[in-house]
Amino acid sequence: MPSVYEKYALKPVINASGRMTILGVSTPAPEVREAVAFGLDHYFELKDLVDKSGAYIARLLDVEDAVVVSCASAGIAQSVAAVIVRGDPYRLEHLHAHDHGVPSEIVLAKGHNVNFGAPVGTMVNLGGGTLVEAGYANECSPAQLAAAIGPNTAALLYIKSHHCVQKSMLSVAEAAEVARAHGLPLIVDAAAEEDLRLYDRLGADLVIYSGAKAIEGPTSGLVLGKRQYVEWVKQQSGGIGRAMKVGKEGILGLTRAIERYLATEPESGAAMVAKMTPFIEGLNRLSGISARVVWDGAGRDIARTEIAFDEQQLGYHAREAVSALQAGNPAIYCRGYRANEGKIEIDVRSVNPDQLAQIQDAIARLGQEKR
Ligand SMILES: *Cc1c(COP(=O)(O)O)cnc(C)c1O
Repeated sequence: MPSVYEKYALKPVINASGRMTILGVSTPAPEVREAVAFGLDHYFELKDLVDKSGAYIARLLDVEDAVVVSCASAGIAQSVAAVIVRGDPYRLEHLHAHDHGVPSEIVLAKGHNVNFGAPVGTMVNLGGGTLVEAGYANECSPAQLAAAIGPNTAALLYIKSHHCVQKSMLSVAEAAEVARAHGLPLIVDAAAEEDLRLYDRLGADLVIYSGAKAIEGPTSGLVLGKRQYVEWVKQQSGGIGRAMKVGKEGILGLTRAIERYLATEPESGAAMVAKMTPFIEGLNRLSGISARVVWDGAGRDIARTEIAFDEQQLGYHAREAVSALQAGNPAIYCRGYRANEGKIEIDVRSVNPDQLAQIQDAIARLGQEKR
């Protein structure tokens, strides 16, 4: 029997870029796949499954309530719809039909108005909201956030992410304080973050996670927070949520993945360093290339290999290395965010030692093919 790769003529991929949507994010553990398979194999009273899996997750995390959704983007859209509709049955069913004369502006720091693969603002619009930016590209204080609040504000939105501007930005706790002072809910998009309890504790009313990133579940998302708000998010399954529905397999898979995530020690940064050390030594034997360990810019316990390309000596730029590695077979995807500075990064979490050797060979060949 041909493999899926052969059957559809797909290139095998070495994922040295981290949890990337364009590559399929992550590869869940066997027990998570079993939960997905069980879900696919059985029927449930879906409302009961949604309520009870959510309550189970909420108990695990010591939060008021939770609900599994189809992805974090859907979580943003449904959270925005929830704070606009607020349980009104007419608005639930006619969200986009016409203007409802209720608050629908979502205030966020300008430096948080990012494109995470799709724009935050598009998800807000899907939920019936419009973005209002506070502060400037490089700064937003609590006072600047508060100054953007008006009579039409429905909620504050905080994007906790490495994609955002980090300097001179208010903290989640400060945003929660501003929200409280104005009697508004705070929604936190923590899609790729690792701490499933922190933002709820810091005072957010709704917190959104991506199911397949840190949690390594199936394609799914998690929304948790205050009971009333989570209830309003759940009601969206009879509104815009229907266009982004999650199946029984996703609900059971993510619930199991959260349980596993909480019980499993993550691979430590030190273990990542041990894994990449022979790789770094090998790369440093290539002329024109220097490699070293660098630590995650957002402060997580993640070590990566930074590879600097000396363009003068090699005759090619790091940007060309990124595309040549992607064009190879297998396709090698590294982190190219800093390729313009002549550097790429290798995230080793989803890469085994054999694949690291393949990456090293591919980099060595880049030079030879140029000569
Ligand atoms: C990945 C990401 C999302 C989207 O998550 P999906 O589950 O892929 O929809 C949203 N916001 C941020 C900050 C992200 O990093």
